[in-house]
Parts: sequence; structure tokens; C-alpha cells
Amino acid sequence: MILFLEWPFFLPSWREYGGRILIVGPFAFAVIRRSMRDDEGLIAHEKKHLEQCKRKGAQHHYEQTKVSADYRLESEAEAYAESVRHGWSISWCAMSLHNLYRTGRSVDECREAIERYL
Ligand SMILES: [Zn+2]
Repeated sequence: MILFLEWPFFLPSWREYGGRILIVGPFAFAVIRRSMRDDEGLIAHEKKHLEQCKRKGAQHHYEQTKVSADYRLESEAEAYAESVRHGWSISWCAMSLHNLYRTGRSVDECREAIERYL
């Protein structure tokens, strides 16, 4: 399920993002800024995360996202590949993956990870 909301700016960790996955028990929801509801790249990105949650289990996804740089790299690279397919620049996606997800990888390595899913 995708929820389009006014953004909860009171949550500092949400400021940088246009969308987030919210895990409640075994359930996963995609939350997207209402102002970005027409952004197909963002919607495709969050849909891919929902698919990952179904494939691997929402709790597993949540826990691995917290503890594993490799998991963050792969799950975000797969989701950013969807954004690229829907018109986002791969350079911007690689920079964003590098800057926001503590993967320990260079921008070029982030770009290569995204390209593996294209
Ligand atoms: Zn993502």
C-alpha cells in the first residue's frame, strides 16, 4: 500500500527523502510526500521496496536495512534502477545512494551497483 502524505518534517531522519518505507509488524507501507505524488520514478522506487519486503519479509528488510551496508546497497540499487527506468538520472541516483545510505561505497561503485539491475 502506498500512502501519500504531507511530509512529517518533525522526524529529522525523514527530511532528506521523498519517500520512505514504514514497517509495522509484518506489514510494509510506502509513504510518499504528497507534493511528489506524480513522480513516477519515486513511486516505482518505493514499489520495488514493497516488493523486496514481500520477497524477504518486512521485518527482515527492516533489520537488514539497519545493520547491513551490503543489504542497503543492494536493496537501494535495485530500487534506484526502477527510478532510472522511469526517467531519473543514473548520476543523480548514484550520488543519492552514496550520500544517504551509508553504504561505504564510492559514487562510481554505487553507479555500478545500480547498473547491475538495469
Ligand atoms: Zn529506497
